[in-house]
Amino acid sequence: FPYTTLFRSQQTDHAQQALAEQLQTLGAKIKTMEVEAEKNRTTLENHRQKALRDPLTELPNREAYNERAQAEVQRWQRYGRPLTIAIFDIDHFKKINDTYGHQAGDRVIKVIGRSIATRLREVDFFCRYGGEEFVALMPETDSQTALAVLEKIREAIASAAFNYKDQPMSITLSVGVTEFKTGDMLDMAFDRADQALYTAKSLGRNRCQLV
Ligand code: GH3
Ligand code: MG
Ligand code: MG
Repeated sequence: FPYTTLFRSQQTDHAQQALAEQLQTLGAKIKTMEVEAEKNRTTLENHRQKALRDPLTELPNREAYNERAQAEVQRWQRYGRPLTIAIFDIDHFKKINDTYGHQAGDRVIKVIGRSIATRLREVDFFCRYGGEEFVALMPETDSQTALAVLEKIREAIASAAFNYKDQPMSITLSVGVTEFKTGDMLDMAFDRADQALYTAKSLGRNRCQLV
């Protein structure tokens, strides 16, 4: 090769090698960033899952209810299949706190919540709505079918013997139930179930009230 050509080709070789190295570095950087992004996605999803769960009962919380209820109402509006909502409230819970202490109260909320959850069906959504109150959304379920399921649960809880430090305590639930009706919005059905719950309380508690 003439000297200039050789020189140029060496220059090109160097440039190409530098470029290849740059590309390799860039590739490695992208790979690292991809791994980071995946980690962040996982962390974010974990946080989201945590934010939707009540730590005491490990049941879905009110936030989760808001998300799920919207979806269920949309499904109900679109397909016209029955949808029933039930609000559960532990009877005389203040007395349980006062008699056995707040910690025992917490345990009761946990045990009762989980015990209702295991008795509901796979399709039902069940959450701790707040305090000693729980909400069930029962898709594909008319009010009569729901009432039968809920009555069984109410009875099972009422007749179970819960022990706290070897002292048996009896716990009962009141439940307000309503099926979504044409023209209903989520809040309207929820308020109706809440009214029914109030009626159940005033009629003597330990009962399911359908409206
Ligand atoms: P009712 O039969 O009318 O429902 O009577 P109640 O005593 O259950 O009435 P109310 O709903 O007014 O009282 C609920 C009580 O639950 C009040 C509050 O101090 C207690 N509470 C709410 N959240 C918690 C909790 O996370 N842990 C405990 N231990 N107590 C709670
Ligand atoms: Mg209450
Ligand atoms: Mg109560």
